Amino acid sequence: MFDYLIVGAGFAGSVLAERLATRSNKKVLIVDKRSHIAGNAYDHYNEEGILVHKYGPHIFHTNSKDVFEYLSNFTDWRPYEHRVLASVDGQLVPMPINLDTINKLYGLNLNSFEVEQFLESQAEEVPVIRTSEDVVVSKVGRQLYEKFFRNYTRKQWGLDPSELDKSVTSRVPTRTNRDDRYFTDTYQAMPLHGYTRMFERMLEHPNISIMLNTDYHDIIDFIPFKEMIFTGPVDEYFDFKFGKLPYRSLEFKHETLNTENALAAAVVNYPNDNLYTRITEFKALTGQKHPKTSLVYEYPKAEGDPYYPVPQPQNAELYSKYKKLADETPGVHFVGRLATYRYYNMDQVVAQALTLYKKLTEKTEEATTKLPPITGSTSIIDKIVKRAPSKE
Ligand code: FAD
Ligand code: UDP
Repeated sequence: MFDYLIVGAGFAGSVLAERLATRSNKKVLIVDKRSHIAGNAYDHYNEEGILVHKYGPHIFHTNSKDVFEYLSNFTDWRPYEHRVLASVDGQLVPMPINLDTINKLYGLNLNSFEVEQFLESQAEEVPVIRTSEDVVVSKVGRQLYEKFFRNYTRKQWGLDPSELDKSVTSRVPTRTNRDDRYFTDTYQAMPLHGYTRMFERMLEHPNISIMLNTDYHDIIDFIPFKEMIFTGPVDEYFDFKFGKLPYRSLEFKHETLNTENALAAAVVNYPNDNLYTRITEFKALTGQKHPKTSLVYEYPKAEGDPYYPVPQPQNAELYSKYKKLADETPGVHFVGRLATYRYYNMDQVVAQALTLYKKLTEKTEEATTKLPPITGSTSIIDKIVKRAPSKE
């Protein structure tokens, strides 16, 4: 008998498994249909012995001291500040757009004050900023928007920025100084021995059992548990009752080159050329020394594993129907990027999972103090198992 069945061994599922097992002495079964733990953050040594991220580059950054301290229980860190170059007009220039980007692109020698004026002269007036196009044209104008954002976004999402919520391109700031870091968060670091090692340490506990290569549908009728934590796609859980929620997918093409270093930055973005959006050189992220180097190319796809929820008003509306249903489903808790349909970074998922843990424990404490014990065949377990969906 497990206290919790956790579907998905990514950040959401693993944080909850760790907390419930070590802090609340709960017996937890965590299942994942993949052959490994760590979800999309999974990394491994490839055939050449280079540490690579199977599902694209994962760079840890957060402003949350709590999240950083929590993860520090399971890993040491390698300080790392991420920098990206964009290939535009035959040049490699800093992205996010900053003072050096403008000077290099236009052959100018502006200072911070002058570049601010330059951007102001380019910016379009947008009364209400709603879309991902609005965000950019209102800050840097149409020309820079077209050079850096329009085509990248069309490629990445299969949608024009004018069709996407402002939150998407708002992830990338504009700067008038020379700061060329991709993120400005207080904590920026990579797990010293990789993400998978960190997850192994999180899940190393006698109260935690792990089943890989297992779709939860295949075991749900056979393994007794009290409550479920679900971190997969929420629409799939409810058999697409209200229709499919769109997710954007990617194909990752990995390559190892017989050279020590290949790119001018850890990541190079290609807004206007090629079918891929960006190339990543893993050794730049991990600091690994090796005579060869491994890269990954990201090719956006409509079909395939769900990686990105698509921030559009109609999708938010559809999700709200699933959310209502999820909130009304007793004994099942939905958490994580796919289960709450949010374009969340790793740290946000960790924070969300820690919040759910708090809620669950508060609930348990309340239940044990206020409610009479559940006995015999009226057990809550029977009800939940019957209520949970099966493949048939
Ligand atoms: P996931 O990691 O997706 O875990 C869900 C798990 O559930 C999966 O392993 C899946 O196999 C399993 N599952 C689903 N359905 C079932 C089922 N029916 N039965 C059993 N198991 C099931 N974030 C950052 O902070 N920094 C970055 O640089 C960054 N880069 C990214 C790059 C890419 C290309 C992508 C796609 C994401 C990136 N992210 C980044 C986001 C990060 O990957 C997520 O925030 C985080 O991994 C989400 O964790 P999760 O547990 O919610 O979901
Ligand atoms: N973006 C862009 N050009 C770039 C980088 C980003 O147009 O050179 C837009 C694009 O829509 C992208 C979004 O900004 O999907 C968010 O970028 P981020 O690098 O945060 O994407 P992620 O790492 O989540 O794929």
